[in-house]
Amino acid sequence: MPDVLFAPWRYEYLVSDKTGGNCFFCEAASSEDDRESLVVHRGRKVFVILNRYPYTNGHVMVAPCAHEASLSQSPEDTRAEIIETVALAERILTEAYRTDGLNVGINLGSAAGAGVADHYHVHVVPRWSGDTNFMTVAGDVRVVPEEPAATLARLRPLFAGARA
Ligand SMILES: [Zn+2]
Repeated sequence: MPDVLFAPWRYEYLVSDKTGGNCFFCEAASSEDDRESLVVHRGRKVFVILNRYPYTNGHVMVAPCAHEASLSQSPEDTRAEIIETVALAERILTEAYRTDGLNVGINLGSAAGAGVADHYHVHVVPRWSGDTNFMTVAGDVRVVPEEPAATLARLRPLFAGARA
């Protein structure tokens, strides 16, 4: 069992059709039902969404609203807002879940493990000391007692009341 999970976001399980068609993130970005789409926060050019199949409680993703494949294709103001929003998520998750640490990462391209390869997104995954003792990503076993709806209810007011 590893002491550190280098890439807990390596395996993504998203509800979208990965062979093409609608983009999961674009659908969420344009959705008018934040509870159904699990959108936690909407900024100017980016939004925060729960991972429907999280690695740990509070696992969120920060993505641009526009369909952009990589950081280098993203306009500078979007990139800036992405990193500011990741910092906001860091602060909120650390407080809300009393985390000991966070994994923050981006998979660019399907070869790097991106489940949705053409709409980039930053994973922010809460971690606790010793959590690998009972949770393994390699074995595809997760200990996630909190329902996404509960996570949404917990995080939405925190993002709403916060400033990046
Ligand atoms: Zn998209």
